[in-house]
Amino acid sequence: MLVEHDAPLAPLTTLRLGGPARRLVTATTDEEIVETVRAADAAGEPLLVIGGGSNLVIGDAGFDGTVLRIATRGFALDGTLLELAAGEVWADAVARTVDEGLAGIEFLAGIPGSAGATPVQNVGAYGQEVAETITEVVAYDRVRYETVTLTGADCAFSYRHSRFKADPERHVVLRVRFRLTDAGGQSSPIKYAEVARTLGVEANRSVDLRTAHDTVLKLRAGKGMVLDPEDHDTWSAGSFFTNPILTDTQYRAFQDRLGEVTAPAFPAGDGRTKTSAAWLIDHAGFGKGHGSGPATLSTKHTLALTNRGAATTEDLLALAREVRDGVRAAFGVELVNEPVMVGVAL
Ligand SMILES: Cc1cc2nc3c(=O)[nH]c(=O)nc-3n(C[C@H](O)[C@H](O)[C@H](O)COP(=O)(O)OP(=O)(O)OC[C@H]3O[C@@H](n4cnc5c(N)ncnc54)[C@H](O)[C@@H]3O)c2cc1C
Repeated sequence: MLVEHDAPLAPLTTLRLGGPARRLVTATTDEEIVETVRAADAAGEPLLVIGGGSNLVIGDAGFDGTVLRIATRGFALDGTLLELAAGEVWADAVARTVDEGLAGIEFLAGIPGSAGATPVQNVGAYGQEVAETITEVVAYDRVRYETVTLTGADCAFSYRHSRFKADPERHVVLRVRFRLTDAGGQSSPIKYAEVARTLGVEANRSVDLRTAHDTVLKLRAGKGMVLDPEDHDTWSAGSFFTNPILTDTQYRAFQDRLGEVTAPAFPAGDGRTKTSAAWLIDHAGFGKGHGSGPATLSTKHTLALTNRGAATTEDLLALAREVRDGVRAAFGVELVNEPVMVGVAL
């Protein structure tokens, strides 16, 4: 177990932002994770768990407590059942399941970060989300002081949300179990129109697994959504805002504002409608590359807020507030941040 003091956190995040941790512990076994959490809790010490740092906005003042970096490894396949240690690199694990000819997470290719963080915000992309395949999450429960196994239903997954995100002080994920599908080398049915269009097939058809995986990677790279240290468009936390889900009343008010213009709209259950945050940002006047300071919108995707190299967290938040306020003024819709804020708020 590696313990460092006054350790910079910015290099551990994909935004490369944030001040130092008073104490940084890197854990490579489940036992080290549990031991570190128990010791911090017993001492009443603030604790921040980080995996790949790809969904975190850490304040410039850093974190006055213990930061626990999860660096466990483990990829175990038993038939179609997959168990990943929390610290496994997610994108590598996805590629390995494709090599094994198993479908279920192939459209989640190229998403940065760790396996243990995927249940936290129910990671999803291109018509697939981990809620569809997670059967169990093994976690240390900081209220019961023991390791527990939660079923997929216990995780209360919804769009970019789960019980882990709702109650972040309670569970530290140790292992995640998935049930994949052996479809003879074929992918899951394609649900995302852009993927179907790119492959020249109809929606709900399957294609060769490797083709599905590689197509998603290519689409993501074109939007700056695959990490590349040389490309500042990928110095981001991915999508900065979630797609707004509007109640019937909110949706009607939104339509009144739009007049003759048509915005993307998808049914989101219970009479609610999901619209596109990227569309709102763009149509509120914030195009690709917007901003002249050290933090700007990505030149490839309006939804990604990026550090051009010399930004501070405050620079990024100023840009985020400008975009959020501009969308509210133009459309009356409130954008909500997707990344987890540490020591700061929008
Ligand atoms: C270029 C880019 C593209 C992205 N594309 C997508 C996308 O398509 N879809 C999508 O859903 N997300 C996307 N993201 C966001 C991000 O990659 C995911 O949310 C990812 O799962 C975060 O993993 P991480 O290990 O980096 O988590 P971190 O950023 O380290 O942590 C995120 C949160 O999870 C908590 N956490 C981390 N590990 C654990 C654990 N073991 N136990 C308990 N809590 C934990 C942290 O405390 C924090 O609250 C993207 C990000 C980037 C930079």
